[in-house]
Amino acid sequence: MLLRQVEYARPATVEEAISLLAEHDGARALAGGQTLVNVMKARAASPDVLVDLADLAELRTIAFSADQGSLEIGAMVTNTQLIASSEVEVARPILAEVAATIADVQVRNRGTIGGNVCVSDPTNHLPPLLAAIDATFTIRGQSGERTVSSDEFFVGVYMTAVGEGELLTKVNVPPSSGAGDGFAGLTIGAHGTYIVNAAATVSDEGARIAIGCVAATPVRAIAMEERLAGGDYSEESVRAAAAGLGASLDPPGDVHGSADFRRHVAEVSAVRAVLQAAGRRK
Ligand SMILES: Cc1cc2nc3c(=O)[nH]c(=O)nc-3n(C[C@H](O)[C@H](O)[C@H](O)COP(=O)(O)OP(=O)(O)OC[C@H]3O[C@@H](n4cnc5c(N)ncnc54)[C@H](O)[C@@H]3O)c2cc1C
Repeated sequence: MLLRQVEYARPATVEEAISLLAEHDGARALAGGQTLVNVMKARAASPDVLVDLADLAELRTIAFSADQGSLEIGAMVTNTQLIASSEVEVARPILAEVAATIADVQVRNRGTIGGNVCVSDPTNHLPPLLAAIDATFTIRGQSGERTVSSDEFFVGVYMTAVGEGELLTKVNVPPSSGAGDGFAGLTIGAHGTYIVNAAATVSDEGARIAIGCVAATPVRAIAMEERLAGGDYSEESVRAAAAGLGASLDPPGDVHGSADFRRHVAEVSAVRAVLQAAGRRK
């Protein structure tokens, strides 16, 4: 199906993009277009104005922050850029590892980290990963800039803390400081959409675990994290800590797997992600 007629703007600065988004009620930011153009074709979204972020070089950079050594990833950084980035390789290689398994090369070349999180699709790879590594999200609007945690950022299916007339400008990833990161799950075919996934970070401060595809937004496995607080990451201990995780979840069931199957996969994935993360600690 062809797109409905739509106005198109290609601002040269972030400020101009924000003004355009604020001026027009029906305006939407266009990043890689991998989801937005498809939903427009299906008439599931019909923005009046597309504000193309393609020329905003400021949103395409990956750099270490001057102060704490955290990694600042511009919202328009593509999955392919994440995969090739030496900064990502040094700071948090899990980002490249996971980005490399998203869909196919075309989607990875066009799809951006900003688009991946702003679309807030519960089956996407990056939301649970960014929740586990405790990333924060910088949002800019006409009244200024704010930075929110992943708990605040992901609000619901296709809903985030980015409001009307605002842009996500960057994703801030804390330095690993010796922490190990892990990611595991079950996909529909190779490089397919996840049925369930789990991401984990293990550091001297404990484990952070987030489960994807089981609710509208990533779910932190707090009880499992608390059971691991003693710092024993043997397989036996991690398995014991995961017991009951599935029962605490309320995932949907569909043609790819029942709710009970997803509960089981969530436990298995969480165990695998934590063991991988613990094994990578420095
Ligand atoms: C066939 C196919 C398979 C896929 N499989 C997977 C998969 O298995 N796992 C996975 O994680 N992803 C998958 N994706 C999604 C893909 O990785 C992209 O992340 C996703 O399509 C959106 O990124 P985009 O840059 O194309 O954003 P767009 O489609 O351009 O935008 C998506 C939404 O985010 C908003 N937006 C984008 N950037 C900003 C910003 N900076 N500030 C505010 N709002 C913004 C847009 O207005 C729009 O509402 C798949 C996509 C396709 C087409």
